[in-house]
Formats: sequence, C-alpha cells, structure tokens
Amino acid sequence: MSGCLVLLVEDNEANQMLARAVLEIEGFEVEVAGSATEALEVLAARKPDLILMDIQLPGQDGLSFTRDLKSDPRYEGIPVVALTAHAMQGDREIGLRAGCIGYIAKPIDTHTFGTTVGEFIRMSQGDRRMVAQ
Ligand code: MN
Repeated sequence: MSGCLVLLVEDNEANQMLARAVLEIEGFEVEVAGSATEALEVLAARKPDLILMDIQLPGQDGLSFTRDLKSDPRYEGIPVVALTAHAMQGDREIGLRAGCIGYIAKPIDTHTFGTTVGEFIRMSQGDRRMVAQ
C-alpha cells in the first residue's frame, strides 16, 4: 500500500503520533487532522485513499462528520474507517449506519494496524472495480 494517502482524523496527540509513525513505516503517506474542520481543509487540497475517523472529536463528532462526508458528492467515494475506544456491542453497527466501512479498536495494535489499514484500502478499491465491471 506504499504511496497510498491516509487522512487520520484524531484529536489525541499521542494517538496521532503513534498511528502516523506506524503507517509511515509501512509506506503510507499520512495527513493528520485534529477535528472535522481541519479535515475539511486537508480534503479541499487532497483526496486520500482512506480516512481513519476517531469517533470522539472536539466540535463535530466523527460519526456526524462521516454522515456529512457520505452525503457530499465530493467526498462520498472516500472510504471511512472508524477508530473507536468503545468495545461495546453495537458500535460497529452504528459506524456502518453512519457510512463507515469498518472500524479499528483503540488503542491500536502496532503489529497489525498497517496491514489492517491496507486491507481496508484494498477492499474499498476492489468494491469500486466490481461496480465498474
Ligand atoms: Mn478523540
């Protein structure tokens, strides 16, 4: 997945640094935004292959922001994966309803995080190819 651009929307600085470091070691390019507002600034300039979306953000929360992205023709095609500290049952469903293609639990597992992110990108690109055929 080398060369793929990931937009990480996460307000916690320690989580930002860890996720960015792991992804960059795996060859991803990473843009970090600390809020929905900052993410929109990145999206105005670049089109990421995947958005990693923290659910709990200052200001607009991640699920509400995901719903906005999914209803905007400029951004609806960008896959969103929720980052959630909640391990509660039903969270996955809530994320899927908001338009996420899946979720990754926090704290992230540094051994599997990059592979998991790569699989989500491959999965979303595969879906697009299937639609095109
Ligand atoms: Mn947060």
